[in-house]
Amino acid sequence: MKNVLNIATLLFVVIANSLAHGDKLKIANANAAFEIGGVVVTAGETYRGELKVPSGDDEVESFIPITVHNGNDAGPVLSLIAGIHGSEYSSILSMQKLAGLIDPAKLSGTLVIVHIANMPAFTGRTIYFGPDDLKNLNRSFPGDINGTITERIAFILKREVIMRSDYLIDIHSGDANESLGPSYSAYYAEAGGEMVFEESRRIAIAFGLETIVQFAGSYDSVDDAIYTGAQAVTLGIPAIDIESGELGKFGDQYVGPIIDGARNVMRELGMIAGDPELPANPLFISNRTRVFSNHDGIFYADRKVKTGNYITAGTRLGIITDYHGNELETIVAPSAGVLLILFGTPPVNKGDNVVVIGRISESGC
Ligand SMILES: [Zn+2]
Repeated sequence: MKNVLNIATLLFVVIANSLAHGDKLKIANANAAFEIGGVVVTAGETYRGELKVPSGDDEVESFIPITVHNGNDAGPVLSLIAGIHGSEYSSILSMQKLAGLIDPAKLSGTLVIVHIANMPAFTGRTIYFGPDDLKNLNRSFPGDINGTITERIAFILKREVIMRSDYLIDIHSGDANESLGPSYSAYYAEAGGEMVFEESRRIAIAFGLETIVQFAGSYDSVDDAIYTGAQAVTLGIPAIDIESGELGKFGDQYVGPIIDGARNVMRELGMIAGDPELPANPLFISNRTRVFSNHDGIFYADRKVKTGNYITAGTRLGIITDYHGNELETIVAPSAGVLLILFGTPPVNKGDNVVVIGRISESGC
């Protein structure tokens, strides 16, 4: 107690001296305490803990590990969410590293790191869907506290993380069955109103990846905004999506750009010192074309094509066979563009999105 009193006295003297010298800026910039999940994190402190996801009719409960660095000085609340899809490991491992690189004493604002949003999918090693209810967390917003486990996770993420954020970055990689390249940042170019898409665009560029995808469309209500980022922008919170990684890989070439990008955005927002390293020649992709499988079976990607290639309409991308090897379907590019995603493992189900092609924006922005 004595030490606390001494510090309080010292602070009083410092503040009184500052006031005497007209230095009001320092006081105006002092950060407030930050509350999350019923925990109060004081300015200049780091909290490592978890958000509880309560049990429901399914009797499944879960938790969401988080780190909160609440800076000494005031600034925006930036939230980084990893592991919405539990087998997208580069997002998860990049946040493990980033959490140890931030010093709240040198931070303005608050950094919220969600280490693994979808713990059931991570521990269950599933792609796309949670193992308990077979729902996709990135199609489950705004969530429902009385719903299934995935819907309850979405509800907690919305209430505790999204609603407390000034900016949001939802980090993905191609899922464990997807080849994906190049890594890109993406923003909602039409949703949430002008301030929201301008600010989203600003942090999408500041992240520093050379490829930037513009998501089309907006949402009539938060109930329609089923994606993590869409939920945020519809609530008026600038947000971007990151894709860096593929096929369950987590090498430095995927993890490094996520760590660098997160710090670039923090520099852009004035949360840490320095200027962001902006992309030298950003390539904007304004539209995406998807190809869906018409059959259950086995997918064989064409070995001559690679994600990141520019392909023309009609390019053969792979075939689907039945379980005896008889060809059922040839997958062909319906339009020209950059091949962003191509299935990279054999199982394919009717209705699966096996290919994504990005059309390069002609206006370049
Ligand atoms: Zn994902």
